[in-house]
Formats: sequence, structure tokens, C-alpha cells
Amino acid sequence: MTVKTIITEPNKLLRQISKPVENVGKAEQQLMNDMLDTMYDANGIGLAAIQIGIPKRIIVMDIAKDGKKDPRYFVNPVILNKDPIKNTHEEGCLSVPEQFAEIDRPSKCEVEYLDYNGKKQLLKADGLLATCIQHEMDHLEGILFIDYLSKLKKSMIIKKLSKLKSNTAVL
Ligand code: ZN
Repeated sequence: MTVKTIITEPNKLLRQISKPVENVGKAEQQLMNDMLDTMYDANGIGLAAIQIGIPKRIIVMDIAKDGKKDPRYFVNPVILNKDPIKNTHEEGCLSVPEQFAEIDRPSKCEVEYLDYNGKKQLLKADGLLATCIQHEMDHLEGILFIDYLSKLKKSMIIKKLSKLKSNTAVL
């Protein structure tokens, strides 16, 4: 088990556009294992590779409740369809610690991706799953959920996070 350090806002790395994965091999599977360990350790439900500093189009998620485990792996995910009906969810992010906001997103979406074994898969997502996959896919484009907020709200959050950082000793 390898728990990696999660990068937090403000950090330029989080604004980078991640690159497609050419082949799902041992190295990519190891990365997915580490990402999952890191996500579980931080009590998150989703993590994109760029959040541990690796600009690859890889996401791990687990939205199972009550201590059950249901890990999901998405390599090179592409959204094929988005429902015009929006849904509002309170979102947080491991890279934006302790900040939450209500965000509107398409309530359903269809996603094509490669799984842990490099096999092509199609997922019809709704509810929390749809919100989570769209949030994580934003990371691949360098977008954070706070980008959907007003400029004022966003700058207040970034100020708070910067303060938090300068008060934390790097060990
Ligand atoms: Zn996030």
C-alpha cells in the first residue's frame, strides 16, 4: 500500500491538462492501486492522477457506503452524452480541503473508458455517480469545482487555502 501526497489548491499542477494513456500495463495498474490507497486514506470518493501530481487521464472512484468497497477505475474517460436536466450536489474535493459548495451538473451522463484491464467499457451514470465522474473528469482538464462559483466566492476560498498552507510546516 502506497499513500501518496495529495496536491492542494493553489497549485499550478492542478491546472494542467492530463495526457491520454497509451496502454494500460503494469505501471498504470500500480498507479491506480496507489491512487485508490491514497483516496481511501483521505476518506475521499474520487481521485484523479493529477491530484498526486501525475498528468495522466486516470481516475479512481468508490462511492459505496457503509464500509463496503466497490472500486472503479477509469482510463481515458470520454463523456458521450449529458442529460440536459441538471442536478445540484454539495461537492468537496481532496485538493480543496474542507471547502464545500453546491454545484449544478447534468444529472445523467454516458461515459466511455478503459477499465483496470484496459478493456473498453460504457457506463450510464446518474445520481452521485454522475456527479462524481464529471467532477473527476474536470480534473483532467485542469478544472476545479470552485471554478463554477462566483469570482468573489472562489477568491475567498483560495485565500483561505493559501493561509492554511502558510501556517502549515512542511515536514
Ligand atoms: Zn476533486
